[in-house]
Amino acid sequence: MRVLEIYATVQGEGIDVGRPAVFVRMAGCSVGCVWCDTKESWGFDRPAVTPAAVAAEVLRVADEAGLRSVVVTGGEPLQQPAAELAELTARLRQAGFHLAVETSGHFLPNGLATSFDLWTVSPKLPSAQARLPFTSERLQAWVAFARSLGRPAGSRPSGLQLKFVISHLEDVAAACRLIAAAEAHRAGIPIIFQPEASQAAQVFPRLPSWLHQHWPDWQHWDVRLIPQVHKLLGLP
Ligand code: SF4
Repeated sequence: MRVLEIYATVQGEGIDVGRPAVFVRMAGCSVGCVWCDTKESWGFDRPAVTPAAVAAEVLRVADEAGLRSVVVTGGEPLQQPAAELAELTARLRQAGFHLAVETSGHFLPNGLATSFDLWTVSPKLPSAQARLPFTSERLQAWVAFARSLGRPAGSRPSGLQLKFVISHLEDVAAACRLIAAAEAHRAGIPIIFQPEASQAAQVFPRLPSWLHQHWPDWQHWDVRLIPQVHKLLGLP
């Protein structure tokens, strides 16, 4: 597997916001979002390392910081070899870690259903101008996956959350179309709307009215508006 960096910080996004964790940033992503804030993670050309070596470094960083929570992010983690991800998570689970993963959702979690306690799926919307299209069929596959996990929403482990990064009204419209087509809200999946970091101060106050235009009863469902808290704190 290929890893860009391993470091201790605080989860600044989604339903686990505020949870200190060791982040494992995988190297390699072919999605190509224009506003990506980790473009250095796109390349697949870093030297390969074994899951055992990655787990050892995670343990070292975690022990130093006193943590037992890991977030595997990217890059696109699901473009790593599935067998190696399974080995890494098995090693970390044996050491008592809570395991979360963040994915664009473009690639499916083949054989990894039991590898993570929390899946964050972040479909890319028009402002991302991603090279790979994200379809409602793909979201339907993730909703079916969430249902197969059989974990009640809001429990710990929490199962799966959807996270939409918003730059403008068109993103909200596209997200609401995807959610409605896949009936994601009816599956008990927490749905996060997160302002794109470079425009957060302008976008965040507008989110409720933008949502109201495209999803009038959004407040009846598990929908949350959460900015990137680690950026407010100046953390990596
Ligand atoms: S999927 Fe994530 S890592 Fe890949 S380009 Fe988009 S934001 Fe960056």
